[in-house]
Amino acid sequence: MTTAAIIVAAGRGLRAGADQPKQWRPLAGRRVADWTIARIQAQVPLVVLVLAPDDAEAWAEFGGSTLVLAPGGATRAESVRNGLGALAGHEVTKVLIHDVARPCVSANLIADVLAALDTHAAAAPGLPVTDALWTGNDERVTGTRDRSGLFAAQTPQGFHYDAIVAAHATHPGGAADDVEVARAAGLDVAIVPGDADNLKITRPEDFARAERILRAEMDVRLGNGYDVHRFGPGDHVVLCGVEIPHERGLQGHSDADVGMHAVTDAIYGALAQGDIGQHFPPSDPQWKGAASEIFLRHAAELAGQMGYRVTNIDCTLVCEYPKIGPHAADMRKKLSDIIGLEVERVSVKATTSERLGFTGRKEGIASVATACLVKP
Ligand code: MG
Repeated sequence: MTTAAIIVAAGRGLRAGADQPKQWRPLAGRRVADWTIARIQAQVPLVVLVLAPDDAEAWAEFGGSTLVLAPGGATRAESVRNGLGALAGHEVTKVLIHDVARPCVSANLIADVLAALDTHAAAAPGLPVTDALWTGNDERVTGTRDRSGLFAAQTPQGFHYDAIVAAHATHPGGAADDVEVARAAGLDVAIVPGDADNLKITRPEDFARAERILRAEMDVRLGNGYDVHRFGPGDHVVLCGVEIPHERGLQGHSDADVGMHAVTDAIYGALAQGDIGQHFPPSDPQWKGAASEIFLRHAAELAGQMGYRVTNIDCTLVCEYPKIGPHAADMRKKLSDIIGLEVERVSVKATTSERLGFTGRKEGIASVATACLVKP
């Protein structure tokens, strides 16, 4: 028994302008669909993404992800039916059906719809209409309508899985949304209070409004990391994952990668999840000589599990030698691969300490790093 969600992303979205479906257009640093998927996945364990059959790029991109993929149909209802079909055999009890073009959906709204399904076979968010309503023609008002009892329908719309599968199987088509399909099958649909910020991106100007909402809600965290390792016998050092031949080595319990340790601690710091020593105790012999990318990978995965993504890293190595400049590009690439972050968002730079202090006396290398993490 599980809860699932279907995100319908097979539409072409031409009213929103541009030559690209609106779900793939950028919004506050990522694409519309990425926001929507992240918000639904944070609340629901099993998510189906319905994609246009000819959207080869999206199929390739999401093919290896945790999402279940289903092909879109000629109509929205057919797309939803394909999504429901993709959930067959997963023992789904409750299912949410959500428009990909609503990327500002809140955790509270998702939780409210799911909670309403404890006592109702169907539930969906609706906003009471507060504006006066007119009819019009040729830029003239031709009449007025009573707004009492009217609601603007939103998604996610939630249903008992078997009930909505049966409702779609018998519906003749042409429904505006899944609530209409459910009601046609006799299901009682509870209204959950909607959220004015849960807008459906439809027109070009909706992008700016959605961006304002998302940026205001973002949880941004910074962390810093600092590490030092002492020089000792050896013929190379490992810095930010790159092996550099050198007349001395760095001493430490692991591979003594001072740069990667600082970056790792910066991520743990942003998450307020301690430091490397806490997660990988030096007293534990299994970490002796370990490649430090194990630590960094763990920190990055922990960030993902806590709902954060790393948005940039800045690492400074402090040493008189070896020269860092010729290796900085390789170091950025290595960190970027391990964290899963574009290389343009990873900085590695170096400074000497003007021959002052322990780094100036060439007794060791120090590193400081900053990480920025964002929870959408
Ligand atoms: Mg260290």
